Amino acid sequence: MESASVRGRARPATGDSGSRPAVRLQLWRSDGTMRAAAGDVVGILCLVSVAAALDFKYHHAEELEAYLKRVHATYPSLTHLHSIGRSVEGRDLWVLVLGRFPTQHKIGIPEFKYVANMHGDETVGREILLHLIDFLVTSYRRDPLITRLLNNTRIHIMPTMNPDGFEATKVPDCYYTRGRYNKNGEDLNRNFPDAFERNNASIQPETQAVMNWIKNETFVLSANLHGGALVASYTFDNGNSATGSLEGYSRSPDDDVFIHLAKTYSFNHASMYKGTGCDNRQTFPDGITNGYSWYQLEGGMQDYNYVWGQCFEITLELSCCKYPPADQLEKFWRDNKAALIEYIKQVHLGIKGQVTDKNGNPIPNAIVEVQGRPHVCPYRTNEQGEYFLLLLPGTYVINATVPGFKSILKTVEIHNNTGNFSALKHDFTFPEVSISWE
Ligand SMILES: [Zn+2]
Repeated sequence: MESASVRGRARPATGDSGSRPAVRLQLWRSDGTMRAAAGDVVGILCLVSVAAALDFKYHHAEELEAYLKRVHATYPSLTHLHSIGRSVEGRDLWVLVLGRFPTQHKIGIPEFKYVANMHGDETVGREILLHLIDFLVTSYRRDPLITRLLNNTRIHIMPTMNPDGFEATKVPDCYYTRGRYNKNGEDLNRNFPDAFERNNASIQPETQAVMNWIKNETFVLSANLHGGALVASYTFDNGNSATGSLEGYSRSPDDDVFIHLAKTYSFNHASMYKGTGCDNRQTFPDGITNGYSWYQLEGGMQDYNYVWGQCFEITLELSCCKYPPADQLEKFWRDNKAALIEYIKQVHLGIKGQVTDKNGNPIPNAIVEVQGRPHVCPYRTNEQGEYFLLLLPGTYVINATVPGFKSILKTVEIHNNTGNFSALKHDFTFPEVSISWE
């Protein structure tokens, strides 16, 4: 939740309000319960040791670090723990990576991330991500869906982006505190380069660490977790007349995908989809909103991810109270568990593949875009020549462009492959001989 003035009432979201992911929730809950193998004594002991260590309470910096190290020590082949930088006060910015190949990117396996606690006084996300980690590691090789998810997805979890702000917030408090900011008094969710206007804030160490991280990984889908409201908010947060800001809604070329992503979370959450808001504050139809429609902001992280990181990110407001008492954390985990998992699966929407020359050598920096939905910065292939495009089921024309060659157009029919844990795969091969390009 942001403390800035609220900009008008939320408008009803456009898009297909008839598609209710709630059906998937029921499937998930009936299929997704943990199935521990009774004979696996070692596994049970591991499960008990980690689960017992993770109480429903707030974990301060040393406890959080100790917990992450303990998980990694218990599940060394399933996890990778690293710090992507340090806060102003020198605290590590820990990221735990989970997956079958946790230490490095593998071709075809999309990268996903969750980031919490960038506002240090918004604390629910920080704790439920620790419980998500616990659930994922203890379910691997026991729950078939979680096993497939971890075999086919590399999941990065950053429980706190603003550890200094969290430590500065001494006691639970439902409303804004100074702990929102980093140690230099900067709001990290106003601190990123902005696509639509110049923002003056100097880039903070926490922001720079995340920018470097985004540059170094091929993130496809992400969410950042906040508190102070109950809604899933999607890009753009800022805009101009071309994006529709004059009409009070800043529409990205992938608006349909973002609405689907936000609804996936809200309808799989215990109550977010009801959109009743908090107390007497604003309501949100279906529990979602376009960021700009709610209120405009510049320098936000989700716009940065989408415009420069080639990563679709939404902002999740998980609790009316920013820093609720610890005895409510178990309910927050229960309310969010199915939504957190179902949202990760959406990284397998759409289409992916590799761009190579005729000898199979990958072509980095090739532009691969969908006709009719141009990104502010065209999406380009990574070092391995890979592209990932999140798209809803339908027919699309994909345009692959390499300077010096004629563009390749391919019409594709995309189905919902999230249940298969793999987007549609299509590779593009460019000839060796240069053809004048149009
Ligand atoms: Zn916030």
